[in-house]
Amino acid sequence: MRDVIIIGSGPAGYTAAIYAARAQLNPLLIASSVEPGGELMKTTEVENFPGFPEGIMGPELMTNFRAQAERFGAEFITEKVTRVDFSERPFRVWVRDDEYRAESVIVSTGARSLMLGLEAEQRLIGHGLSTCATCDGFFFRGHEIAVVGGGDSAIEEATFLTKFADKVTIIHRRDEFRASKIMQQRAFDNPKIEILWNHTVTEINGADKVESIEVTDTTSGATSTLAVTGVFIAIGHRPNTDLFTGVLDMDETGYLETVPGSSRTNIEGVFACGDVQDHTYRQAITAAGSGCMAAIDAERWLESQHG
Ligand code: NAP
Repeated sequence: MRDVIIIGSGPAGYTAAIYAARAQLNPLLIASSVEPGGELMKTTEVENFPGFPEGIMGPELMTNFRAQAERFGAEFITEKVTRVDFSERPFRVWVRDDEYRAESVIVSTGARSLMLGLEAEQRLIGHGLSTCATCDGFFFRGHEIAVVGGGDSAIEEATFLTKFADKVTIIHRRDEFRASKIMQQRAFDNPKIEILWNHTVTEINGADKVESIEVTDTTSGATSTLAVTGVFIAIGHRPNTDLFTGVLDMDETGYLETVPGSSRTNIEGVFACGDVQDHTYRQAITAAGSGCMAAIDAERWLESQHG
């Protein structure tokens, strides 16, 4: 029996663990064994996390977060949560057959970037391949790069990336964008943006950094090589919320809904923070900030329960 169980690691979960541990709530953080530490474990240099003027590697930053939470007594289980029951208190959380109980739960399971499914993606992510223009655009000053996708994210990222890159080619699998008209016009009007309609990326070349990509024409089947040193995949995100279907309120795309200005979900005593409830900012620093909010909300709520 715990005061708080935190489900999911990453900047939000680890920050919630630091705050909850320092508030003497003895938090137990259960993180997936597939990707403990979350999306930042897949990045290389992080230059925009305040406090690190020289930058820091993503995995090192997450190791530091965890060590800081451990220092104050947070405990960790690195296994996937398989089931939850929030219908009554104490709340129950299962890892296979092991049951854990808690007065309150903080959900910080994050969201994952959709990928193309190419083998090279695993090897080259963080080495010229990125899913976040805000995070990595700066590294591509003077480069020629590609953005994959045809939604608002792809157009927004491509437009942002023209601040740094000499040329940005948007590669879209159809002959029209899904993005809003105003965003599309921004791309059409930008002299640094070129659009490759009806093409998919079928290979990303490079042993330890992106050197070029193979693209295939979806109408003719013809393939060609594009000499780019950066590729941004912007084909959407999926929040990791399958566990909470029918339990916690979600928007139509599966993101958890929280009461504005707080981390409260529709179930009293269950809080959500980080990318699992934020499809707008998706930054380590905003996730960490909302993890802090969730721990404070949980602490105050527990206090109100115990009078
Ligand atoms: P999205 O709207 O789902 O668009 C995904 C795009 O990726 C689509 O063009 C899709 O092609 C393409 N795609 C999907 N799977 C692919 C694959 N395997 N290979 C190649 N292309 C693939 O996602 P999003 O752009 O991330 O936007 C998500 C939501 O956030 C939307 O509601 C969007 O309006 C909103 N958003 C708003 C703003 C803004 O207003 N400033 C900025 C960003 C996002 P098809 O078109 O052929 O399906």
